[in-house]
Amino acid sequence: MMRRQNFRPPRPNHNRSGSTAVATPQKTDRLESLIEKATGLLTTSRYTSSRQNLRIIPMGGVEEVGENMTALEFGDDIIVIDMGLAFPDDTMPGIDYIIPDTKWLEENKRRIRGVIITHGHLDHIGAVPYILPKLGDPPVYTMALTAAFVKKRLEEFSLLGRSKINTITKDDVLALGNFKLRFFRVNHSIPDSVGICITTPVGQVIYVTDWKFDHTPVDGKATEFDKIARFGAEGILLLMSDSTNAIKPGYCASEREIGLTIDRTFNEIKGRVIFANFSTSISRIQQFFDAAAKYNRKVIVTGRSMVNNIEIALSLGYLKIQPKIIIKSEQAKKFPDNQIAILTTGAQGEDAAGLARIARGDHKTVKIKKGDTTIVSASPIPGNERAISAMLSNLTRLGSHVIYNKTLDIHTSGHAHQEELKLMMALTKPKFFMPIHGEHHMIVAHGELAKTMGIPETNIFSLDNGQILELNSAKEAKVTEDPKISSGYVFIDGLGIGDVGEVVIRDRQVMAQDGMFVIIMTLDRRNGKLINQPDIISRGFIYMKGNDDLIREVKHEVRKLVESKGKEKLEPNWAYLRNIVRDEIGEYLYQKTERRPMVLPVVIEI
Ligand SMILES: [Zn+2]
Repeated sequence: MMRRQNFRPPRPNHNRSGSTAVATPQKTDRLESLIEKATGLLTTSRYTSSRQNLRIIPMGGVEEVGENMTALEFGDDIIVIDMGLAFPDDTMPGIDYIIPDTKWLEENKRRIRGVIITHGHLDHIGAVPYILPKLGDPPVYTMALTAAFVKKRLEEFSLLGRSKINTITKDDVLALGNFKLRFFRVNHSIPDSVGICITTPVGQVIYVTDWKFDHTPVDGKATEFDKIARFGAEGILLLMSDSTNAIKPGYCASEREIGLTIDRTFNEIKGRVIFANFSTSISRIQQFFDAAAKYNRKVIVTGRSMVNNIEIALSLGYLKIQPKIIIKSEQAKKFPDNQIAILTTGAQGEDAAGLARIARGDHKTVKIKKGDTTIVSASPIPGNERAISAMLSNLTRLGSHVIYNKTLDIHTSGHAHQEELKLMMALTKPKFFMPIHGEHHMIVAHGELAKTMGIPETNIFSLDNGQILELNSAKEAKVTEDPKISSGYVFIDGLGIGDVGEVVIRDRQVMAQDGMFVIIMTLDRRNGKLINQPDIISRGFIYMKGNDDLIREVKHEVRKLVESKGKEKLEPNWAYLRNIVRDEIGEYLYQKTERRPMVLPVVIEI
């Protein structure tokens, strides 16, 4: 386990658990009470921590967009809501995913009564195969479409059948130890999204993440306002709600409006349509298929997750498409360009996904040609902007016209804007409020919004991952910390077998056995061409002096690789080039020497 290296200044009043000096919660309590006494602020009864308090612990998702996971504990019982992953940023080379640190849950796995998943997006289900086995495979409870996505994911990791995946309906009542759970449907960019009303011995909690109020949803199933209002009338001690768009005023546009734009766009395009979207955005995919059918286009689906999710959604009736509208790519030749639409993944510029491969010109079946129009129907997740921008430039260089969010309203968010967030507070009338799901500044903005709704500042709690909101039977709340609960991140690398600690060990093993081989490429930043011969540094692999021929051949191979990538006249993508050089030269060295040194390509831009 390693901590993400982002800077986080210490919070006032609360000591963070971490590698530096750790103050126990008891010490913090004593200090705070001294301050309170000295300043005359100690007016309420003394709050004491006990097993008979409800403890709410965000394990992830309150300092970032992604890796959503929350634990609730009362007495001997723990329930867990969501198990998501986050995607790494540029500062984490070699890392594929980030998941929450679950050491505390692992130590208390016998007390876990169940895992509830709110909906099928990766930032809510992605970590299931990594975490569920470590927690002793507790039962999972979720709606039908989400259950199918979770099962598919477990199947990919050969873990299917270990945990019981229970399908619930939105009207079911679940009793898990001290917790009673009821559900209400919300709108989001994927069907079967639910909020939860959790009845606990100290009061009721509403947990609602990834939602918006869409009065004209594509599937016709609107948010259950009546239920939310009823829960509100029963009394809500704490509301936990989605902060993703807390800085955006007004209301989030209805998904149906996007359908109209897609329809208009299809009407105008003369050549092929290439439509990139999240493979989980079933409503958007429905609107794409509707437009394709209306304008008489056959559809080619590319990308494994897109194919899988469409199959699942079709089999469960969440997607309705014209029979025989999907064709194989080989059949495309039989149709003119204006009768073809291609549906692909990769709207976030992800290296391995369909659209990035199309944009690099190395997709197996889809080659861009003049007259194509590429529609990117998503807005960038923070951190992906550069990759997306380079991908769009490559598409235009190859001859495609490009439509994306900035040129046309081709995407709407699945997350509530300010007016919707306020309405949720008005309906639930919570005593306490805890903004969740977002980076710290979004969470603070959501707290500010709560103040305008009359919730006192002292009743609003913006926590960090691993902090605890404790609520007692006297309906008091306070933030505490428990040194046993760690709040770090676990990094998953390409092998999907663990955290970065193991990766470091593996690297050391490679270097110990076969040494290290560094390739330094000095490249022209404008055209990606080599400025001079690549430099080679070898340590523990071969003695350079006695292997002039091999070194010369490697330099030649590197030059060939850089040139072949440069020939495509594409926007330079150093990360991609480094990967290619590492893989190809690694293979080349193995063929020549039967050894696998650690190959480290270094790019110097001039
Ligand atoms: Zn979502």
